Amino acid sequence: MNAEQRAGFFARLQALDPHPRTELEHRTPFELLVAVILSAQATDRSVNLATRELFRVADTPAAIVALGVEGLSRHVRSIGLYQSKARHIVQACEMLLAEHGGEVPRTREALERLPGVGRKTANVVLNVAFGEPTIAVDTHVFRVANRTGLAPGRTPIEVERALLERVPPQFLQHSHHWLILHGRYVCKATRPECWRCPVADLCEHQPKTSAPANARAAAAAPAPASARSAAAAAAPARGTRGKRG
Ligand code: SF4
Repeated sequence: MNAEQRAGFFARLQALDPHPRTELEHRTPFELLVAVILSAQATDRSVNLATRELFRVADTPAAIVALGVEGLSRHVRSIGLYQSKARHIVQACEMLLAEHGGEVPRTREALERLPGVGRKTANVVLNVAFGEPTIAVDTHVFRVANRTGLAPGRTPIEVERALLERVPPQFLQHSHHWLILHGRYVCKATRPECWRCPVADLCEHQPKTSAPANARAAAAAPAPASARSAAAAAAPARGTRGKRG
């Protein structure tokens, strides 16, 4: 994919979703940090279900330390690997209190020293909480970058470096969100949905997938009679809007 194609790729994803956001619910950098640690090998939905309740009772490092590993585990036990995640989060909270005044640090070095925080988690926190143009390479970003030819690499760090070099600067800030969402909802792992992909002509993946029979049938079918009659019934109502009595 050449530079012009890369710019077109992100311009189209941006046009569809100008302000992409993480799907992990949070109100503060600290809540984001906890949610991202919990999200490793878990769905955002499962994390949100747990943190909605957790953050109601404990939304600061001191409150999480007061809960302890056992108390925290009770709130997050629906999430995979919850015991080790709970242990890491409590240890990270102790370090935040001891070394950072209870605040989430703004540097990669300090973030990566926290238990449970690796490069990907640090990149998400730096990007989402502090507005840094970092790129967190998760499974979706890794797949889309390789499959499309956007930024091929054998490891997440290779893909991250390639993306940092190749994503046009004006798209860097939101690029990992666009790639995550594109991978999660269109360029899916087992069967990418190329027939409805907004960047299909720019993507190097071959062969492209075609629409499944039920999707083609739905697109070709006339609107059901009930929908047509509902539309017809609605037409005079629209024309009389505003009349009273
Ligand atoms: S055309 Fe297919 S493989 Fe390429 S980005 Fe779109 S969904 Fe993914």
